[in-house]
Amino acid sequence: MRRMFTFAIGVRRVLPLGSAGLLRRALVVLSPVRRCLALAVAISLALAACLFSFANPVHAQTKEIASYQISVRLDVERKLLSGSEQISFLNDTATPAGELYFHLYPNAFRGFDSTFMRENPDAAQRSIGENNWGAMDLSALRIASGPDLLAGATLDDTVLRVPLPAPLLPGQTLRMETEFTVTLPRLIARMGYQGDQYTIAQWFPKLAVLTDRGWNAHQYHANSEFFADFGSYRVDITLPDRFVVGATGLPAGEKENGDGNKTLTFEASSVHDFAWVANPAFREAWAKAGNTDIRLLYPPEHEGIKERFLNSAVAALENFGSWFGPYPYARLTVADVPEKAGAGMEYPTLVTVSSSVPPYLGVLDAEQVTIHEIGHQWWYGMVATNEFEEAWMDEGFTTFSTRKLSDQLYGADRSMGDVLGLRIGQLATDRGEYMAVARLDPPDQNAWGFYSSGSYAGNVYAKVDLILTTLERYIGPDKMTDLLRLYFQRYAFHHPRTEDFLGVVREVAGNGNDRFFQQALYTSALFDYSVEPPNVERDGQGYKSSVTARRLEDGVMPVEVVTTFQDGHQERASWDGEARWQRYEYQRSSPAVKVEVDPEHRLALDTRWANNSYTAPFQAEPLFRRAADLLWLMQGWLRVLSAGF
Ligand SMILES: [Zn+2]
Repeated sequence: MRRMFTFAIGVRRVLPLGSAGLLRRALVVLSPVRRCLALAVAISLALAACLFSFANPVHAQTKEIASYQISVRLDVERKLLSGSEQISFLNDTATPAGELYFHLYPNAFRGFDSTFMRENPDAAQRSIGENNWGAMDLSALRIASGPDLLAGATLDDTVLRVPLPAPLLPGQTLRMETEFTVTLPRLIARMGYQGDQYTIAQWFPKLAVLTDRGWNAHQYHANSEFFADFGSYRVDITLPDRFVVGATGLPAGEKENGDGNKTLTFEASSVHDFAWVANPAFREAWAKAGNTDIRLLYPPEHEGIKERFLNSAVAALENFGSWFGPYPYARLTVADVPEKAGAGMEYPTLVTVSSSVPPYLGVLDAEQVTIHEIGHQWWYGMVATNEFEEAWMDEGFTTFSTRKLSDQLYGADRSMGDVLGLRIGQLATDRGEYMAVARLDPPDQNAWGFYSSGSYAGNVYAKVDLILTTLERYIGPDKMTDLLRLYFQRYAFHHPRTEDFLGVVREVAGNGNDRFFQQALYTSALFDYSVEPPNVERDGQGYKSSVTARRLEDGVMPVEVVTTFQDGHQERASWDGEARWQRYEYQRSSPAVKVEVDPEHRLALDTRWANNSYTAPFQAEPLFRRAADLLWLMQGWLRVLSAGF
């Protein structure tokens, strides 16, 4: 997050085969905004389908599995959505489906006893309170012009199980109709209303994902985001004339109804969700990146900072496009919403962003959140991994992409901000966030399996930045770019799993990284290599220097041990990092004066860089680094403490 449509049901959209080059938090638990706020605290304490480019082979590979045509009316007096929906679902597996599963996400906000609320009771009470609950009610679900499906359906919290009268065979398409109402909650978890701001996400009855291993349908958990199949959407939104609306996809019509309401139509294809925002106060600004128009919606009070969002959006689309593959959609909508209104969330071709830190503080919150959410367009939006079960593949890749680009744009030492001369880089903050929760969980597990929301953020977002940064520093930036580009191009629109990514790692960089990923993704093993002060003795006319490097934690990774002698000579030894310690003896005319393990900090997961070097007789540098480590750790803890929805 930071971390929700077809229609023409029955009319399968055939995407022309292209031949040209590829176009193509919190919960955050800690939203980027929260991250920046937490940072500020730490510092003060320390101190349309047809318009798509079809010349795009990735896009052309999209198989439309679940498509929706929805008509919805927003009743602002009653805070109610009333909708009717036509669904087209293709069984693209090899197995007959005897039942369907639907997500009725708004039921997460029905009361304190939902899975979502039970996992997050404090946040729930803060965010909603009595009389502000939300819910989804289905009044009809049937096979199109056919039998009712609702009578036999059973609801388990937010998941509706629907037995079919006859199995849906492989390759068959089923068309259904629903009628539903959504009682909008006061804003919680990026959904509902706050004043005149409406953020409408996870708002329509939505099919779960049918795989060859059966239905992948999990309840709406507090830490969990979403997973859905690709398809097309056509959505008619009826609401009062005064509202400005931003939505997934492209506008496909506007009609005045003569009763103070209007109906706006949006269309999108090759997407797996549809979300929209509405606010009468939205102003509009435009920019362009490649073939994509960027539409920024922002509140009047942000007139002075709108360029920050626009510039970040252009930089993100252009750079991510050149690194991974061009953005294939004709329009990206960026909605600057109040922080509680879902600030920092990604939906297909629509992102919400926010900024609440006064600009004079120098915190790059607007930039960070915009780059992060647009990074999701590649990993969540197109690669579309399973956020229930493998959130690291989306949030982690997005955090890494954000860091790489913001380091490039603003400087690695200040990519989070430059506050009163104190520069904060994202890698440092990710290290702090990870270290605060490093022993609690591995990244690759179900989103609801984490010890806490802080552990989810620290291990799924921050640790994975460090994992991918480590990989990049070991294999080199060029190979890393090749790797991510190949991964994106091969798996965009295909829902890859962890093993698919690791296969690409092997293909591009060999098998040498398997053990690292095994440790880093599936365990909470720590990495910490250190050096001892060198033991130097006079030996005849010269010196015997004894240098010892140690492995202080369970994690094993090859590292280099570099010894510098008083005459400037350097010895660089490669250590496989296996044993608990490794000693090197040097007989030279000059004594060793500096010892370093992993001097370039390639192992970004190393939890203590303070012990990576020893300079004799001066200890100022290690001491300084210890102070820096302490600052990062404090920042990490403060983020954990400030975590929440
Ligand atoms: Zn995110």
